[in-house]
Amino acid sequence: MKLTVVGCSGSFPSAESACSSYLVEADGFRLLLDMGNGALGELQRHCGLYDLDAIFLSHLHADHCIDMCAYFVARYYRHDGGRCDPIPVYGPEGTEHRLTTAYADTPTASSMSEVFDFHTVKPSTFEIGPFTVHTERVAHPVEAYGIRVEHAGKSLTYSGDTGISPALDELAREADLFLCEAAFTHGKESIPDLHLNGREAGETASRAGARRLILTHIPPWTDPQTNLADARAVYDGPVELAAPRKSYEI
Ligand SMILES: [Zn+2]
Ligand SMILES: [Zn+2]
Repeated sequence: MKLTVVGCSGSFPSAESACSSYLVEADGFRLLLDMGNGALGELQRHCGLYDLDAIFLSHLHADHCIDMCAYFVARYYRHDGGRCDPIPVYGPEGTEHRLTTAYADTPTASSMSEVFDFHTVKPSTFEIGPFTVHTERVAHPVEAYGIRVEHAGKSLTYSGDTGISPALDELAREADLFLCEAAFTHGKESIPDLHLNGREAGETASRAGARRLILTHIPPWTDPQTNLADARAVYDGPVELAAPRKSYEI
């Protein structure tokens, strides 16, 4: 598996990075995890506009899904006058309605489904192309999922947005790469069931026995080096900060 960070800024874009979006590739199949603000532009550095095979949306906060509105334009109003076939989109209950409402003026109430094949995510195990994925509800104010992606004996776990969550501990169990949000700073923000701080991300990785930790979803107003140091203090494995355009072989 190859993971590429398309965007990793938390909550809103930074000068350097779009919001959450991660490209996972194996066997020529391209799965995109989340498509937050600015992600569609960045994505085109890594693959063609129409080269995605499936999209997974962890939850329906704008910083994880809003560029789906832009992607609807690209697929529905193609430059050549055609229309793209529907691509599988996995998201929480209400994803189509949420995106249609955000777009505000689709030709009909079902226009999104002409180019997106919506599947409702529940806690489960299923196949997306060559990947086996496990989804679990995590601790966030809206219905939100963490996901574990497995391929050829390797595993990648993405937290989505979450506070401390036993379900996330299980998803990250001995994961080869654990991409975990660390939006808060230890000792500063403390709101249950919203976000993790660097220390909590490190503790989660430690409990889960994850083999490698990448911290992501750090907002522009948060000092990433503090969160990195906080995670390192409680987790023995390799840990680093996500950065746009960085790729990892898993
Ligand atoms: Zn977020
Ligand atoms: Zn969120």
